[in-house]
Amino acid sequence: PHDAAPGEGPAAIELRGVEKTFFSKSETFQAVKRLDLEIGEGEFLSLLGPSGCGKTTTLRMIAGFEEPTAGEILLHGRNQVGVPPYKRDVNTVFQSYALFPHMTVAQNVAFGLERKRIGKAEVHSRVEEMLQLVGLADRGERRPQQLSGGQQQRVALARALVNRPSALLLDEPLAALDLKLRQAMQVELKRIQRDVGITFVFVTHDQGEALTMSDRIVVMNNGLIEQVGSPQELYERPKTRFVAGFLGTSNIMEGTVTSYADGVAVIDAGDDGRVLVPADDSAVGDQITVSVRPEKIVLTHGERPSGDRECSVQGTVSEMVYLGTSNTYEIRLNGGETLTVLEQNGSTAEATARRGEKVWLSWRPQHSLLLTGAP
Ligand code: ATP
Repeated sequence: PHDAAPGEGPAAIELRGVEKTFFSKSETFQAVKRLDLEIGEGEFLSLLGPSGCGKTTTLRMIAGFEEPTAGEILLHGRNQVGVPPYKRDVNTVFQSYALFPHMTVAQNVAFGLERKRIGKAEVHSRVEEMLQLVGLADRGERRPQQLSGGQQQRVALARALVNRPSALLLDEPLAALDLKLRQAMQVELKRIQRDVGITFVFVTHDQGEALTMSDRIVVMNNGLIEQVGSPQELYERPKTRFVAGFLGTSNIMEGTVTSYADGVAVIDAGDDGRVLVPADDSAVGDQITVSVRPEKIVLTHGERPSGDRECSVQGTVSEMVYLGTSNTYEIRLNGGETLTVLEQNGSTAEATARRGEKVWLSWRPQHSLLLTGAP
């Protein structure tokens, strides 16, 4: 199912110039400013962003609970504007999953099918199949309150999937679970999605959750898409300050370009260091924003390093935290910024840098990330 990349045949879900403005007596508020997005058949796509960025509103428009104020929403190439939620070939799972307490687990799952006038035998076999899928085959006769939070969430999932929607929309479905259970459910949810092969659109503000489960992540900020990509692309090639900071430690440096040639901008700060940055277009005098991920940086004592780690900056250790398998350092650069460095602990105990010590940080030019966007 994951072979269905966007662009081959009609997308499972397509948003074209979608906008949403809420009007009330006193004000108007544009929750979604403009969204263009294609979601492939069988894809696990997450909408990720801080509270209020418009994720839920976007999901509700796909489901049909809200109508866009502009633009179109297509499911398998058919425009859905004006189509009520129950006639759309999608199903939604909310954070508060509201199972019927007086019904058994099996009855809860069967509920949607019975309203569709499907024969008893088929209802029974489809309910069994769903309970099997979510790992609750032996809990069908229990009441919801006799199940754990994670099990209840799986019942809600079975209830949404039993209708065989072509896409499932999930709005922070794991947010109410504690950390351990949430992590277990992330793996479980991904397995279920792979097994049933349907499109999942998953809303979350938790970056770890999005990285763990998604084929692609849409990072939203302030009603707009900041960047779309695979977890790896977004982590290793963030384009904006916002994405760099939202998915990881941003490690921002600001500098003035001192030379530019062959697609590489150089910030030369003399004795304080030198940073090389791949850049499609730049010129001497440009103010640029650069980031480097903590695990790409090598920390050395003493002499300025040489070799292929051509980017090197000097600083002072302001903080060191021992984390067992790794250490993190906060390094205050001579230029004023602070960088975080992640150092794996090897099998031998090496001398680690101490607070107050002067160190060099170095990395390869290809790990310098040129970012756009306001601070
Ligand atoms: P959260 O993670 O907190 O749920 P979100 O990214 O899902 O955030 P939305 O729920 O989509 O954000 O809301 C986006 C913005 O639109 C918010 O500022 C919210 O206050 C506003 N908003 C949402 N629904 C309405 C409404 N019915 N009327 C007015 N404003 C609304």
